[in-house]
Amino acid sequence: MLSNRRTSEKIIADCLILIRNLLYGALYLIAKATSRQEVSVLLYHSIGSNGSFYTVNPEQFKMQMDYLRKNYRIVSLEEIMNFVEAKNKLPMKSVALTFDDGYYDNYINAYPYLRKYGLPATIFITVGYVGKQMCLDGVLLRMLNWNEIKLMSSNKVDIGSHTITHPELHKISSEDVIKEIVGSKREIEEVIGKNVDYFAYPSSRFNKKIINLVKSSGFRGAFGESGLIKPGDNPFCVKRISVDKSINFWLFKARLTVATEWYKAVEKYLGIILKKLLVGSLIVRAYNNAGK
Ligand SMILES: [Zn+2]
Repeated sequence: MLSNRRTSEKIIADCLILIRNLLYGALYLIAKATSRQEVSVLLYHSIGSNGSFYTVNPEQFKMQMDYLRKNYRIVSLEEIMNFVEAKNKLPMKSVALTFDDGYYDNYINAYPYLRKYGLPATIFITVGYVGKQMCLDGVLLRMLNWNEIKLMSSNKVDIGSHTITHPELHKISSEDVIKEIVGSKREIEEVIGKNVDYFAYPSSRFNKKIINLVKSSGFRGAFGESGLIKPGDNPFCVKRISVDKSINFWLFKARLTVATEWYKAVEKYLGIILKKLLVGSLIVRAYNNAGK
């Protein structure tokens, strides 16, 4: 019975991903005809072949990076932050690269490519998991150790904070939030000998109180999800675009364009309609899973 339900959920989730892809395809065609500026920050997790939903395989990653090098300027988070604060301009097509959690495979499968082409990137480290293992979508993965982090930090990879234990910050006390934010910043700074200016909210969960705590802890900016970036955005809620294994190559290209903003608006209303019609049903669960 349970496996029948799971099969149904899987079929519905696959259908919804197909609908998403078709919708994105249509919006991408329109977006390509416009000349809007496209500035975004990409969010990767693991780069490998481990089966997790949030993992991008190395061949796919290389294809995406080759495309970015040819069509976009790859910039640092500092340049993104200056753009958000309207202190500098960026080319029409600009993108920054970030990796959350600190998986060892970033060092093996992403760093050599970044180093070869001198591309800036930022890895947001979960300090309590350094040198240990962490579960990503049910898959246990080895994490970076401090030697690997230090080596990358001395070669154009910025290191940001992603807390100590990766909690959902809105669910813990202010005291514990401060320990997670300040403690992780301090520990990374001690090891790499550089300032840690940027923070990424675990699971992109945050509220006004958490934003203020991050701000008062000496960070210059913080990152969540999801969408493109423009001058005047809040530097402590900078959007990112998540890349996972469900993002095929043309969808990757589409998500860098203004089609992302249009899709978000359509999805919002589509989600409201689906939820109103089908509250509590397996279709809602499948829809939520497909949207991850
Ligand atoms: Zn994370």
